[in-house]
Amino acid sequence: MKKLIAGNWKMNASLAGNETLVNELRAGIGAPACDVAICVPSPYFQQVQGLLAGQDTIVMGSQNVSSHESGAYTGDVSATMLKEFGIRYAIVGHSERRLHQAESDTHVAIKAERALEAGITPIVCVGETLREREEGMTEFIVKRQLAAVIHLVGHCISEIVVAYEPVWAIGTGKTATPEQAQEVHGVLRTQLRAATEHADKIRLLYGGSMNAGNAAALLAQPDIDGGLIGGASLKAADFLAIIAAA
Ligand code: PGA
Repeated sequence: MKKLIAGNWKMNASLAGNETLVNELRAGIGAPACDVAICVPSPYFQQVQGLLAGQDTIVMGSQNVSSHESGAYTGDVSATMLKEFGIRYAIVGHSERRLHQAESDTHVAIKAERALEAGITPIVCVGETLREREEGMTEFIVKRQLAAVIHLVGHCISEIVVAYEPVWAIGTGKTATPEQAQEVHGVLRTQLRAATEHADKIRLLYGGSMNAGNAAALLAQPDIDGGLIGGASLKAADFLAIIAAA
């Protein structure tokens, strides 16, 4: 299947910096073999939409979506609003939000459902902490996180993207080995197969210190169908090298 390389800029952006980065990406991207997305902070949707105009190789994503449709939810951004700015993917359940905003499995699942209803592909993040890994809980944790989404979205499950992001590998420079990542991706694939006959079409991304040097080995694993890239998506040369490796 066609791989997906998605950049997660997190809370790193500025009008001037975005312009440089997007223009460098546009200039260097050519005709990649994979799909490419950049998930930008919401105040910059309109700017980045403009910077991406006239091409469809790079699409834009959001880093979150509200679990509500509209109304009195101060500070929230709805899936319908995202749609107005051409957003194609929405990261949901990133570990930084599960941790800092106390997002529960159910909350994350509702967000995935809201995105799907608006025609936006949710990138559902799952992953264990270092402590959970050391306690042998990895499989239990990722399956529990994914099960909440499977339960809620039902037959639409084949339309999601899953990102396995071990929390201990995010922003730490400590990447899961290709074997460690594949092992978990295999577990997730099996879980999805039990839920849908289209499980083999669901893209399972790896995220956590993926960079230009380790991307090829990770992406060569049978169940790794792309990457969710944080730090290395902020430099055009690094992000382009990962795209080339896919
Ligand atoms: P990282 O972040 O590539 O900087 O580790 C990945 C992510 O959190 O999505």
